[in-house]
Amino acid sequence: EEIELISFCEQMAQTFRRTGKRDIKLQSEDKEIYAMTIPHKLEQVLVILLDNAMKYSDADIQVVIKRQMDEIFISVKDRGPGISPEHLPHVFERFYRVDSSRARKTGGNGLGLSIARSLVESFDGKLGIQSKVGEGTVVTIILSHQILI
Ligand code: ATP
Repeated sequence: EEIELISFCEQMAQTFRRTGKRDIKLQSEDKEIYAMTIPHKLEQVLVILLDNAMKYSDADIQVVIKRQMDEIFISVKDRGPGISPEHLPHVFERFYRVDSSRARKTGGNGLGLSIARSLVESFDGKLGIQSKVGEGTVVTIILSHQILI
């Protein structure tokens, strides 16, 4: 199904804003970006990523949407504690949690990111993560081989 991603993400951001805790800032150089995807699955992925960003950080969250060649990138950025390089390669594994978050009251099973990755792969996308301790985390959904208008 073809959807317009900026309004799709804006709707999701609004739902999250209504929970009242934090602002989610949407950023894109384009007015409209169309993509072929499975909307309810993409929605689930964004819920997981926004949920994590809210769980692990206190500051505003940024969602950046851009397209480059035949790929579309949707990044969820937070300014939380970040994840150290020894843990980062494992965060997509089922039940993997970083020590400090294991101790947290915020709970979680260590399943969110592994589910998010399988969902993204089910519509031929990719899910990547970059993080720097003390600066924050960026999780990026990459939708490839899109027919761009
Ligand atoms: P849940 O199953 O409820 O999502 P979870 O958040 O522990 O629980 P994942 O989403 O799979 O599980 O994340 C795995 C681990 O990666 C987390 O336990 C946490 O340590 C780390 N992590 C994930 N997202 C972030 C983030 N935005 N900032 C810092 N650490 C993160």
